[in-house]
Amino acid sequence: RGKFEINVATRAFLAREPGIVVGGKRIAGRSKGRIPVFDPASGLPIAEVVDAVTEDVNDAVERAHAAFRDGRWRNKTPAERERILFRFAELIEKNGEALAQLETLEQGKSIHLSRLFASAGSAEWLRYAAGLTTKVEGRTMDLSMPPGPDRWTAYTRRAPVGVVAGIVPWNFPMAIATWKFAPALAAGCSVVLKPSEFTPLSALWLAELALEAGLPDDVLNVVTGTGQGAGSALVSHRLIRKITFTGSTATGKAIARAALENMVPIGLELGGKNPAVVLADADLEVTVPGLMGGGFFNQGQVCAAASRIYVEEAIHDQLVEALADAIKSLPVGAGMDPAAQVTPLVSREHKTKVTRYLDDAKAKAKVIAGAQVPEGDGYFVSPHIVIAPADNVALKREEVFGPVIAIQKVGSRDEAIALANDTDMGLAASVWTQNLKAAMTLTRQLDAGTVWVNTHSFIDPALPFGGIKQSGLGREFGTDWVNAYTELKSICISH
Ligand code: NAD
Repeated sequence: RGKFEINVATRAFLAREPGIVVGGKRIAGRSKGRIPVFDPASGLPIAEVVDAVTEDVNDAVERAHAAFRDGRWRNKTPAERERILFRFAELIEKNGEALAQLETLEQGKSIHLSRLFASAGSAEWLRYAAGLTTKVEGRTMDLSMPPGPDRWTAYTRRAPVGVVAGIVPWNFPMAIATWKFAPALAAGCSVVLKPSEFTPLSALWLAELALEAGLPDDVLNVVTGTGQGAGSALVSHRLIRKITFTGSTATGKAIARAALENMVPIGLELGGKNPAVVLADADLEVTVPGLMGGGFFNQGQVCAAASRIYVEEAIHDQLVEALADAIKSLPVGAGMDPAAQVTPLVSREHKTKVTRYLDDAKAKAKVIAGAQVPEGDGYFVSPHIVIAPADNVALKREEVFGPVIAIQKVGSRDEAIALANDTDMGLAASVWTQNLKAAMTLTRQLDAGTVWVNTHSFIDPALPFGGIKQSGLGREFGTDWVNAYTELKSICISH
């Protein structure tokens, strides 16, 4: 690939025969089906993965279940499990550059973002979850109605749920895979993970690093395949005791229905249509780069991306002008090009979807295009700003998941809040102002799982993240993260 030399380890990984990680090693599996993986910058195939069939999924789940039953992982002391997970995080860091390049090659994002979110990010999140391994606690309590107060002891303990199914989308394949297996492993569960068919490679590598770190066989399994095939077989398997899913709201609903069938608890991290409210006193030196990041980083393929901006009249024109200037001058190129900021979208299908939303907007509203992108076979889409789209513009309400933001002038804060909250989604929102009182008021008024002030899309392992309304169920990260992979057991002793 021209002047961007690919890491030797990444190249070697790409050259391997397709396989799934089940039973403590990479195996061919039973399926003869294969799925090609494309480099979004060129549109050329870079590898193939197994299109796992139901039998492959069943093998993985049954092995994970047997490992859970015999206790080879959950019966290790919390300190032993913690040490293995820390070693796993170290191996991710050691292989950081090779993994980051793999993320860029299969997903398209800038190599800088891959280093930050894929390799370094995954290691940090894994370490946070690993640290919780030794902090899982039950409680003792005084009973309300004991038959004999002095002779009764009651307490709760947290037990790992069993086999966890993790389903991962394509926008941050390494980090989100980690967000699925890390808390589950910390709790003592076994895991079967299915990455997206568009970005399946890094999860396979992670599972092999886990084995190298000392995770027992069968505890972390990865099956590759489609949503309708391997994904659906996995979430409906009767031995699954928890499903953790990140992806679209439509798929989340299908998974929730499958979970209900087996009465399985679910964690759902779904789509967003996230507003940013910009007040007249906002500092544009902070707001413009902040919204550029919030709206366009990873080409807007971010669940929390700022996609609707409501700005007070006094600074509307100034903000639009500044953002229009900023998107025009962004350097374009393959993710492997360290100078590139406009990099390709993940897939041909996704480029078609985003282009369709843009064509609809161009026919009905004023649209400002950013940097010119190459015509060729890469999946490039220029960043765009849509001015005050009317109700008949589809992207006004629907998640585009691409490099496009809509900007609308508002006459008052109340109008901004009403518009911002007028959505079925509720993942994230941001407020831009120098007035602390206004900021605090708006953080309470905005309906979202996360509200940022003078920043957007910042996440951290210590800060719970998740959506309200149709953006999801439950939270990831924070000190309760691992508890979500446990069942509370009540113990009552008469003595
Ligand atoms: P998607 O829903 O199309 O696919 C996600 C995963 O689900 C893939 O692995 C897919 O194969 C699998 N899948 C599809 N149908 C399935 C089924 N019936 N049963 C089991 N698995 C199935 O989502 P995507 O296009 O990969 O990702 C983009 C979406 O993810 C966006 O809507 C985005 O907002 C959302 N997302 C949310 C968060 C969050 O934290 N809330 C983070 C990242 C992405």
